[in-house]
Amino acid sequence: MKNYLSTAISAVEKAAYICQKVQRQLVTEDTLIKKDRSPVTVADYTSQAVICRTLKNAFPQMAIVAEEDAQSLRKSANGAVLEKIQSLLPDWTEHEILESIDAGKGESAAEFWTLDPIDGTKGFLRGDQYAVALALIRKGQPVLGVLGCPNLHPENGADTGTLFYAVQGQGTYFKTLGKEGTTKVQASKSDGSGEVRFLESVESGHANHDLQSKISTPFAEKAKVVRYDSQVKYAVLARGEADVYLRLPNPASPDYREKIWDHAAGVAIIQEAGGRVSDMFGKTLNFTLGRKLLNNRGVVVSNGKMHEQIIALIKANY
Ligand code: AMP
Ligand code: MG
Repeated sequence: MKNYLSTAISAVEKAAYICQKVQRQLVTEDTLIKKDRSPVTVADYTSQAVICRTLKNAFPQMAIVAEEDAQSLRKSANGAVLEKIQSLLPDWTEHEILESIDAGKGESAAEFWTLDPIDGTKGFLRGDQYAVALALIRKGQPVLGVLGCPNLHPENGADTGTLFYAVQGQGTYFKTLGKEGTTKVQASKSDGSGEVRFLESVESGHANHDLQSKISTPFAEKAKVVRYDSQVKYAVLARGEADVYLRLPNPASPDYREKIWDHAAGVAIIQEAGGRVSDMFGKTLNFTLGRKLLNNRGVVVSNGKMHEQIIALIKANY
Protein backbone atom coordinates (compact mmCIF):
# COMPACT_ATOMS: atom_id res chain seq x y z
CA MET A 1 0.00 0.00 0.00
CA LYS A 2 2.97 2.28 0.55
CA ASN A 3 3.45 2.94 -3.13
CA TYR A 4 -0.25 3.54 -3.65
CA LEU A 5 -0.37 5.99 -0.77
CA SER A 6 2.70 8.03 -1.64
CA THR A 7 1.62 8.27 -5.28
CA ALA A 8 -1.93 9.28 -4.32
CA ILE A 9 -0.72 11.92 -1.87
CA SER A 10 1.71 13.48 -4.29
CA ALA A 11 -0.91 13.53 -7.07
CA VAL A 12 -3.54 15.18 -4.86
CA GLU A 13 -1.04 17.61 -3.44
CA LYS A 14 -0.01 18.79 -6.92
CA ALA A 15 -3.65 19.19 -7.94
CA ALA A 16 -4.49 21.04 -4.71
CA TYR A 17 -1.81 23.67 -5.45
CA ILE A 18 -3.18 24.23 -8.91
CA CYS A 19 -6.73 24.60 -7.58
CA GLN A 20 -5.49 27.07 -4.96
CA LYS A 21 -3.74 29.08 -7.64
CA VAL A 22 -6.81 29.12 -9.90
CA GLN A 23 -9.15 30.05 -7.04
CA ARG A 24 -6.87 32.93 -6.01
CA GLN A 25 -6.34 34.21 -9.56
CA LEU A 26 -9.57 33.53 -11.41
CA VAL A 27 -12.41 33.51 -8.94
CA THR A 28 -13.28 37.18 -8.75
CA GLU A 29 -16.38 39.15 -7.87
CA ASP A 30 -16.97 39.45 -11.60
CA THR A 31 -17.09 35.64 -11.91
CA LEU A 32 -19.72 35.48 -9.20
CA ILE A 33 -21.86 38.26 -10.63
CA LYS A 34 -21.79 36.82 -14.15
CA LYS A 35 -22.24 33.28 -12.85
CA ASP A 36 -19.19 32.45 -14.95
CA ARG A 37 -18.20 28.87 -14.18
CA SER A 38 -15.02 28.90 -16.28
CA PRO A 39 -12.56 29.13 -13.34
CA VAL A 40 -13.93 25.95 -11.81
CA THR A 41 -14.01 24.29 -15.23
CA VAL A 42 -10.32 25.11 -15.74
CA ALA A 43 -9.39 23.89 -12.26
CA ASP A 44 -11.54 20.74 -12.53
CA TYR A 45 -9.94 19.63 -15.80
CA THR A 46 -6.41 20.55 -14.75
CA SER A 47 -6.77 18.73 -11.45
CA GLN A 48 -8.08 15.62 -13.22
CA ALA A 49 -5.32 15.73 -15.86
CA VAL A 50 -2.56 15.99 -13.25
CA ILE A 51 -3.92 13.25 -11.01
CA CYS A 52 -4.77 10.78 -13.81
CA ARG A 53 -1.37 11.21 -15.41
CA THR A 54 0.44 10.60 -12.12
CA LEU A 55 -1.67 7.51 -11.38
CA LYS A 56 -1.36 6.09 -14.90
CA ASN A 57 2.43 6.54 -14.88
CA ALA A 58 2.69 4.58 -11.64
CA PHE A 59 -0.11 2.03 -12.18
CA PRO A 60 -0.84 1.80 -15.91
CA GLN A 61 -3.29 -1.11 -15.59
CA MET A 62 -5.50 0.29 -12.86
CA ALA A 63 -8.82 1.82 -13.96
CA ILE A 64 -9.71 5.35 -12.86
CA VAL A 65 -13.37 6.30 -12.51
CA ALA A 66 -13.39 10.09 -12.43
CA GLU A 67 -16.08 12.73 -12.62
CA GLU A 68 -14.95 14.58 -15.76
CA ASP A 69 -14.12 13.69 -19.35
CA ALA A 70 -12.62 15.78 -22.14
CA GLN A 71 -15.52 15.54 -24.59
CA SER A 72 -16.74 19.11 -24.26
CA LEU A 73 -13.17 20.41 -23.99
CA ARG A 74 -12.44 18.96 -27.44
CA LYS A 75 -15.02 21.31 -28.94
CA SER A 76 -13.47 24.40 -30.45
CA ALA A 77 -15.86 26.64 -28.49
CA ASN A 78 -13.83 25.75 -25.42
CA GLY A 79 -10.55 27.12 -26.79
CA ALA A 80 -10.26 29.71 -24.03
CA VAL A 81 -10.58 27.06 -21.31
CA LEU A 82 -7.98 24.85 -23.01
CA GLU A 83 -5.63 27.83 -23.29
CA LYS A 84 -5.90 28.49 -19.55
CA ILE A 85 -5.23 24.81 -18.81
CA GLN A 86 -2.16 24.96 -21.06
CA SER A 87 -0.90 28.01 -19.19
CA LEU A 88 -1.14 26.01 -15.94
CA LEU A 89 0.63 22.99 -17.49
CA PRO A 90 3.21 24.68 -19.74
CA ASP A 91 5.22 21.50 -20.41
CA TRP A 92 2.22 19.49 -21.64
CA THR A 93 0.99 19.11 -25.21
CA GLU A 94 -2.71 19.54 -25.95
CA HIS A 95 -2.87 15.82 -26.71
CA GLU A 96 -1.37 14.95 -23.31
CA ILE A 97 -3.91 17.14 -21.55
CA LEU A 98 -6.92 15.63 -23.33
CA GLU A 99 -5.65 12.05 -23.03
CA SER A 100 -4.89 12.43 -19.33
CA ILE A 101 -8.37 13.79 -18.58
CA ASP A 102 -9.91 10.91 -20.54
CA ALA A 103 -7.81 8.40 -18.58
CA GLY A 104 -10.52 8.92 -15.97
CA LYS A 105 -13.14 7.23 -18.12
CA GLY A 106 -12.44 3.79 -16.67
CA GLU A 107 -15.02 1.34 -15.40
CA SER A 108 -15.26 0.09 -11.84
CA ALA A 109 -13.53 -3.26 -11.30
CA ALA A 110 -12.24 -5.46 -8.47
CA GLU A 111 -9.71 -2.73 -7.80
CA PHE A 112 -9.90 0.84 -9.12
CA TRP A 113 -9.32 4.50 -8.32
CA THR A 114 -12.17 6.93 -8.06
CA LEU A 115 -11.59 10.66 -8.33
CA ASP A 116 -13.46 13.90 -7.86
CA PRO A 117 -10.98 16.48 -9.16
CA ILE A 118 -12.92 19.28 -7.43
CA ASP A 119 -15.64 18.28 -5.04
CA GLY A 120 -17.78 21.24 -4.01
CA THR A 121 -17.59 23.32 -7.19
CA LYS A 122 -20.12 25.79 -5.78
CA GLY A 123 -17.93 26.32 -2.73
CA PHE A 124 -14.91 26.78 -5.00
CA LEU A 125 -16.72 29.54 -6.91
CA ARG A 126 -17.80 31.27 -3.71
CA GLY A 127 -14.19 31.22 -2.49
CA ASP A 128 -15.20 28.74 0.23
CA GLN A 129 -14.42 25.10 0.94
CA TYR A 130 -13.85 22.40 -1.67
CA ALA A 131 -11.82 19.19 -1.82
CA VAL A 132 -9.73 17.12 -4.20
CA ALA A 133 -10.90 13.58 -3.46
CA LEU A 134 -9.13 10.37 -4.47
CA ALA A 135 -9.84 6.85 -3.24
CA LEU A 136 -8.74 3.31 -3.99
CA ILE A 137 -11.61 0.84 -3.96
CA ARG A 138 -10.79 -2.84 -3.54
CA LYS A 139 -13.59 -5.45 -3.63
CA GLY A 140 -16.13 -2.73 -3.00
CA GLN A 141 -14.30 -1.26 -0.01
CA PRO A 142 -12.65 2.19 0.02
CA VAL A 143 -9.29 0.97 1.37
CA LEU A 144 -7.34 4.18 0.81
CA GLY A 145 -8.55 7.77 0.78
CA VAL A 146 -6.82 11.09 0.19
CA LEU A 147 -8.65 14.40 0.61
CA GLY A 148 -6.87 17.58 -0.37
CA CYS A 149 -8.56 20.48 1.44
CA PRO A 150 -6.89 23.65 0.14
CA ASN A 151 -9.06 25.98 2.25
CA LEU A 152 -9.28 23.93 5.43
CA HIS A 153 -6.40 25.13 7.49
CA PRO A 154 -4.44 23.42 10.25
CA GLU A 155 -5.39 24.43 13.77
CA ASN A 156 -2.31 26.62 14.20
CA GLY A 157 -3.88 29.22 11.93
CA ALA A 158 -1.55 28.94 8.91
CA ASP A 159 -3.56 29.51 5.74
CA THR A 160 -1.87 26.83 3.69
CA GLY A 161 -4.58 24.17 3.51
CA THR A 162 -4.46 20.56 4.64
CA LEU A 163 -4.44 17.06 3.24
CA PHE A 164 -6.08 14.09 5.00
CA TYR A 165 -5.30 10.48 4.22
CA ALA A 166 -6.12 7.00 5.44
CA VAL A 167 -5.17 3.44 4.60
CA GLN A 168 -7.28 0.56 5.87
CA GLY A 169 -5.96 -0.66 9.21
CA GLN A 170 -3.47 2.19 9.59
CA GLY A 171 -5.43 5.16 10.94
CA THR A 172 -6.19 8.61 9.58
CA TYR A 173 -3.63 11.39 9.36
CA PHE A 174 -3.44 14.94 8.17
CA LYS A 175 -0.61 17.10 7.00
CA THR A 176 -0.25 20.76 6.15
CA LEU A 177 -0.04 21.17 2.37
CA GLY A 178 3.55 21.53 1.24
CA LYS A 179 5.01 20.55 4.63
CA GLU A 180 6.54 17.36 5.98
CA GLY A 181 5.15 15.87 9.17
CA THR A 182 1.81 14.23 9.84
CA THR A 183 -0.64 14.18 12.72
CA LYS A 184 -2.94 11.29 13.59
CA VAL A 185 -6.60 12.23 14.02
CA GLN A 186 -9.52 10.60 15.84
CA ALA A 187 -13.25 11.16 15.64
CA SER A 188 -14.92 12.62 18.75
CA LYS A 189 -16.11 10.55 21.70
CA SER A 190 -19.38 12.43 22.10
CA ASP A 191 -22.32 10.16 23.00
CA GLY A 192 -25.04 12.79 22.66
CA SER A 193 -25.22 13.71 26.34
CA GLY A 194 -23.22 16.92 25.86
CA GLU A 195 -22.89 19.28 22.91
CA VAL A 196 -23.62 17.65 19.52
CA ARG A 197 -22.02 19.29 16.51
CA PHE A 198 -23.84 18.58 13.23
CA LEU A 199 -22.49 19.15 9.73
CA GLU A 200 -24.48 19.62 6.55
CA SER A 201 -24.12 20.95 3.00
CA VAL A 202 -24.18 24.67 2.33
CA GLU A 203 -26.32 23.95 -0.75
CA SER A 204 -29.88 23.27 0.39
CA GLY A 205 -30.56 21.49 -2.93
CA HIS A 206 -28.07 18.76 -2.01
CA ALA A 207 -29.86 17.69 1.16
CA ASN A 208 -33.05 17.99 3.20
CA HIS A 209 -32.29 20.79 5.64
CA ASP A 210 -35.82 20.66 7.10
CA LEU A 211 -35.65 16.99 8.03
CA GLN A 212 -32.06 17.43 9.23
CA SER A 213 -33.16 20.16 11.59
CA LYS A 214 -35.76 17.75 13.06
CA ILE A 215 -32.97 15.25 13.79
CA SER A 216 -31.04 17.86 15.77
CA THR A 217 -34.15 19.15 17.63
CA PRO A 218 -34.12 16.52 20.42
CA PHE A 219 -30.67 17.78 21.44
CA ALA A 220 -32.19 21.25 21.91
CA GLU A 221 -29.64 23.94 22.76
CA LYS A 222 -26.87 21.33 22.90
CA ALA A 223 -27.09 20.97 19.10
CA LYS A 224 -24.95 23.12 16.88
CA VAL A 225 -25.17 23.00 13.05
CA VAL A 226 -22.27 24.04 10.82
CA ARG A 227 -22.35 24.06 7.00
CA TYR A 228 -19.44 23.27 4.71
CA ASP A 229 -19.22 22.41 1.03
CA SER A 230 -17.73 19.12 -0.20
CA GLN A 231 -16.05 16.19 1.53
CA VAL A 232 -14.33 18.72 3.79
CA LYS A 233 -17.22 17.70 6.11
CA TYR A 234 -15.68 14.22 6.40
CA ALA A 235 -12.28 15.73 7.23
CA VAL A 236 -13.75 18.02 9.91
CA LEU A 237 -15.55 15.08 11.52
CA ALA A 238 -12.45 12.85 11.30
CA ARG A 239 -10.42 15.35 13.27
CA GLY A 240 -13.04 15.44 16.02
CA GLU A 241 -14.48 18.91 15.35
CA ALA A 242 -17.97 17.58 14.68
CA ASP A 243 -19.96 14.52 15.67
CA VAL A 244 -22.58 13.91 12.98
CA TYR A 245 -22.86 14.73 9.25
CA LEU A 246 -26.34 14.39 7.78
CA ARG A 247 -26.95 14.17 4.04
CA LEU A 248 -30.61 13.23 3.79
CA PRO A 249 -32.09 13.22 0.28
CA ASN A 250 -33.78 16.34 -0.98
CA PRO A 251 -37.45 15.61 -1.79
CA ALA A 252 -37.12 17.82 -4.89
CA SER A 253 -34.72 15.27 -6.46
CA PRO A 254 -36.09 11.88 -5.34
CA ASP A 255 -34.23 9.98 -8.06
CA TYR A 256 -30.85 11.44 -7.21
CA ARG A 257 -28.27 8.80 -6.35
CA GLU A 258 -24.99 9.72 -4.69
CA LYS A 259 -21.85 9.43 -6.83
CA ILE A 260 -19.06 7.12 -5.63
CA TRP A 261 -16.36 9.83 -5.91
CA ASP A 262 -18.38 12.13 -3.64
CA HIS A 263 -17.95 9.70 -0.71
CA ALA A 264 -15.25 7.03 -1.22
CA ALA A 265 -12.27 9.05 0.08
CA GLY A 266 -14.37 10.41 2.96
CA VAL A 267 -15.49 6.92 3.97
CA ALA A 268 -11.89 5.63 4.24
CA ILE A 269 -10.89 8.71 6.24
CA ILE A 270 -13.83 8.44 8.67
CA GLN A 271 -13.61 4.69 9.23
CA GLU A 272 -9.90 4.83 10.04
CA ALA A 273 -10.54 7.71 12.46
CA GLY A 274 -12.99 5.55 14.43
CA GLY A 275 -16.18 6.92 12.87
CA ARG A 276 -18.96 5.26 10.91
CA VAL A 277 -20.69 5.85 7.56
CA SER A 278 -23.97 4.38 6.32
CA ASP A 279 -26.96 5.46 4.32
CA MET A 280 -29.96 7.08 6.04
CA PHE A 281 -31.40 3.66 6.95
CA GLY A 282 -28.14 2.37 8.44
CA LYS A 283 -27.17 0.33 5.36
CA THR A 284 -23.51 0.08 4.36
CA LEU A 285 -22.64 2.10 1.24
CA ASN A 286 -22.31 -0.26 -1.73
CA PHE A 287 -19.43 0.77 -4.01
CA THR A 288 -19.78 -2.20 -6.40
CA LEU A 289 -22.59 -0.87 -8.61
CA GLY A 290 -20.75 1.43 -11.00
CA ARG A 291 -20.57 5.21 -10.80
CA LYS A 292 -23.44 5.66 -8.37
CA LEU A 293 -24.49 4.33 -4.97
CA LEU A 294 -27.59 2.83 -6.57
CA ASN A 295 -28.66 0.80 -3.54
CA ASN A 296 -28.37 3.55 -0.96
CA ARG A 297 -30.37 6.62 0.01
CA GLY A 298 -28.70 9.59 1.61
CA VAL A 299 -25.57 9.39 3.73
CA VAL A 300 -25.08 9.55 7.50
CA VAL A 301 -21.60 9.99 8.95
CA SER A 302 -20.88 9.94 12.66
CA ASN A 303 -18.18 9.52 15.27
CA GLY A 304 -19.40 5.90 15.61
CA LYS A 305 -20.76 6.28 19.15
CA MET A 306 -23.81 8.23 18.04
CA HIS A 307 -24.60 6.26 14.89
CA GLU A 308 -27.46 4.03 16.09
CA GLN A 309 -29.07 6.92 17.96
CA ILE A 310 -29.07 9.08 14.82
CA ILE A 311 -30.38 6.31 12.55
CA ALA A 312 -33.22 5.71 15.05
CA LEU A 313 -34.08 9.43 15.02
CA ILE A 314 -34.17 9.43 11.22
CA LYS A 315 -36.50 6.41 11.22
CA ALA A 316 -38.79 8.14 13.70
CA ASN A 317 -38.95 11.37 11.68
CA TYR A 318 -38.90 10.16 8.06
P1 AMP B 1 -21.85 19.21 -0.96
O1 AMP B 1 -20.90 20.33 -1.13
O2 AMP B 1 -21.56 18.34 0.23
O3 AMP B 1 -23.29 19.62 -1.03
O4 AMP B 1 -21.60 18.18 -2.14
C1 AMP B 1 -21.35 18.54 -3.44
C2 AMP B 1 -21.78 17.40 -4.30
O5 AMP B 1 -23.20 17.28 -4.25
C3 AMP B 1 -21.48 17.57 -5.76
O6 AMP B 1 -20.27 16.93 -6.06
C4 AMP B 1 -22.62 16.86 -6.48
O7 AMP B 1 -22.18 15.67 -7.08
C5 AMP B 1 -23.59 16.51 -5.36
N1 AMP B 1 -25.01 16.76 -5.67
C6 AMP B 1 -25.56 17.38 -6.74
N2 AMP B 1 -26.92 17.35 -6.68
C7 AMP B 1 -27.24 16.67 -5.55
C8 AMP B 1 -28.48 16.27 -4.95
N3 AMP B 1 -29.66 16.60 -5.48
N4 AMP B 1 -28.42 15.56 -3.80
C9 AMP B 1 -27.24 15.25 -3.24
N5 AMP B 1 -26.04 15.59 -3.76
C10 AMP B 1 -26.03 16.30 -4.90
MG1 MG C 1 -18.35 16.21 -6.10
